[in-house]
Amino acid sequence: MKSLRTQLSLSILLILLLTIALIGFFSNWFVNREFEKYLTELELTRSENIIADLGNQYDASTQSWNSDYVHAVGMQALYDGYILRLSDAEGDVVWDAESHDMTLCGQIMDDISARMESYGQAGVFSEWGSEISHNGQMVGFASVTSYGPYFLSENDFTFISALNTILVSIAIFASVLAVVVGYVLARRIARPVAETASLAQQIARGNYDVRFERTTNTRELDDLGGAINDLARALSEQEQLRKRMTADIAHELRTPLAAVGAHLEAMVEGLWELTPERLQGCHDEIQRLGALVAELEMLARIESEGLVLSKTRIDLQESAHTVAENLRAEASKKHQQLAVKGEPSLVVADKDRMQQILHNLLSNAIKYTPEGGSIQLAVMDEPDSGVVQVKDNGVGILADELPLVFERFYRAEQSRSRELGGAGIGLTIAQSLVVAHGGSLTVESHEGQGSCFTVRIAKG
Ligand code: ADP
Repeated sequence: MKSLRTQLSLSILLILLLTIALIGFFSNWFVNREFEKYLTELELTRSENIIADLGNQYDASTQSWNSDYVHAVGMQALYDGYILRLSDAEGDVVWDAESHDMTLCGQIMDDISARMESYGQAGVFSEWGSEISHNGQMVGFASVTSYGPYFLSENDFTFISALNTILVSIAIFASVLAVVVGYVLARRIARPVAETASLAQQIARGNYDVRFERTTNTRELDDLGGAINDLARALSEQEQLRKRMTADIAHELRTPLAAVGAHLEAMVEGLWELTPERLQGCHDEIQRLGALVAELEMLARIESEGLVLSKTRIDLQESAHTVAENLRAEASKKHQQLAVKGEPSLVVADKDRMQQILHNLLSNAIKYTPEGGSIQLAVMDEPDSGVVQVKDNGVGILADELPLVFERFYRAEQSRSRELGGAGIGLTIAQSLVVAHGGSLTVESHEGQGSCFTVRIAKG
C-alpha cells in the first residue's frame, strides 16, 4: 500500500505536469499558427513590393530599363530568398537571377529548403508573375520564385529557435518546481494526518492525555486534530465516570446495608429492644435500597434502548399540574411556594415518562431549595415544541459543575447532596427519557441564586 504522502505527491505532480504540458502545447501551437500566418502574409507583401520596386526602375524618357538599378533590386531580393526575372515588353530578358548567378541561386534555394525541412514545414518553390505597366502601357513582365506558402529567413529561424528554447526551459523549470511544490504540499498534508493516526493509536491503547497541538493552516486538518482531541477528552471523562460510578454504587449500597445490618444485629443479640419504630427504620432503609436498584434498572433499560414509549397526544400543562400535586405535600413540609404557570401545550409523548421527567426535576428543586423558597413550573407553547421550565431559587449549581450534573451518580458538591439523600441518577434518567423523546433538557444555574431546568419536546 502506498503512503498518503506518496499518493498526494504523485497526484499533485501529475496535475501540475499536465497543466504545464497543456499550457506548453497550446501556447506553442498558438504562437506558431500566428507566426505562420504573419509570415505567409509577409511573403506576399514582399513579392508585391519587389515588383513595385522593379516598376520604378523603368525610365520612360529612354523607354528602357535602368539595368544597374534592376540588378541592385534583383540581388537584394535574391539575398532575401526571392528569385527574380524581368523581361521587357518584347519578351527579352532584362535581368534574370538564375542566369546572373546560377550557383548563388541554387545555394540560396538549398539553404531555404534545408532550413524549412529542419523546421518541419516542407514546401515547394513556386513562381508568381505580374505585368509591369507605365502610364497604362505594358512595359515588362516580372516573375518572382519563392518558397511557399512561407519561409523563414535566417533571422526568423534564429528567433523561433530561441523562442522554442525559452519555452522548453520554462517547461523544465516549471516541472522541477512542480516536483518540489508537490513534495512540500504532500508533506504538509500527510504529516498531520500521520500524526493524528498515531494519536488515535495511543488513545486506543488507553493514553487519553495525548493532544494534537500543531496548527496546520488547513481547516480540515485542524478540524481532524480538534476531533481527535475531543475524542481523547470524552474518553478520559468517560473513564473517570466509570471509575467513580463503580465506587459510587459500592458506596450507595454499603451505607444503608451497614446501617440495617448493625440495627438488626443489635436487635438479634438483644442489645436493642425490638420496637415497631426500629423495624420501620430498617424497612425504610431497605425501601431506599429497593428504590435505588429500581432507578439503576430503569437507567439500564433506557440506555440499552429497551425502552418502549407509548406516545399519545398529551398536554404538558396537565402533566405539570399532576406532578406538582403529587409533590405538593413535600414542598409544604419545607414551607416552599409551589406554582404552575403558563399555557396548555399539546405534544406527542409518553404520559408516564413525561411525568417521571417532571417528577425528577421538581423533586430536585424541592430538595435543593431551602425552607421558605419558591418553585415554579412554567409551561410554554412554542410553534414547534412544548416547553416546561422547572425554576427554583435554591442553592444553585457551580458553573464548572453544570455540564456534569446529567452524568450518572454525579452530585454537585458531593457532601451537601448526600445529606439530602440523592444518589445522583435522577437527572441522568430525566435526560435519557427526554432524549428518547427526541427532545432536549438544558440547565441554567447560578450558585446561591437558583436553577432553571428546561425540557423541550417536539410537537410532531
Ligand atoms: P440526586 O439524586 O443527587 O438529586 P440528580 O441526578 O437528580 O441526583 O442530580 C444531580 C446533582 O445535580 C444533584 O446531586 C445536585 O447537586 C444537582 N442538582 C440537581 N437539581 C438541582 C437543583 N434544582 N438545584 C441545585 N442543584 C441541583
